[in-house]
Amino acid sequence: MSIAKSGSVSWAHLGIPDVSWSPMRALSIGTRHKGRPLGDGTREEERIANGEVVFALVFMKAVLAAGGFVTFVNPSSSLVWWHPKILSFVRRTPALSIVDLDQCQFGLGSPPGLSSQEFWKKGTRVLTNFPSLEPLGKTCAGLHIHTPLRGTIKIYGKHVSRAKLASAYPPQLSGELARLAAAHFHGADL
Ligand SMILES: [Zn+2]
Repeated sequence: MSIAKSGSVSWAHLGIPDVSWSPMRALSIGTRHKGRPLGDGTREEERIANGEVVFALVFMKAVLAAGGFVTFVNPSSSLVWWHPKILSFVRRTPALSIVDLDQCQFGLGSPPGLSSQEFWKKGTRVLTNFPSLEPLGKTCAGLHIHTPLRGTIKIYGKHVSRAKLASAYPPQLSGELARLAAAHFHGADL
């Protein structure tokens, strides 16, 4: 935390492990929903995840106070966006904006070389104080069919989880994010 406060973090990129914040989890064993985003307090994984968000917020606030930039990235559907402390952080920090994107627009899908190509939408929300990330906000026009990120896909005879494959950013997305951030820093003469 002292690193963030010292001003030596010019850009912090954070995400929260998705499992307990996924609406899919809420359909099975989870206790969160939009009206009760913190859960009912009975599940340890939810209490731990709630604490992770508080830590991320303290870290982001320290980076912002020291003049740095943050990108807080999670699935658009994540219930983390309903966390009351996230909502109040957004409300009280005018420099923050939200960019929504679909990762299929950055090439997320089944690996090349398979007999049938799959497109994976993976709606994603970015909370940031970078003023220049709007070009990331590409959402799908619906010109292809999305395969849900459930189950496995067979790659060279081996079954691999779609969700696991999709957990890494497609190179186009990480490249564009890095390009926009670099343009901002360069433009800002930092
Ligand atoms: Zn799409």
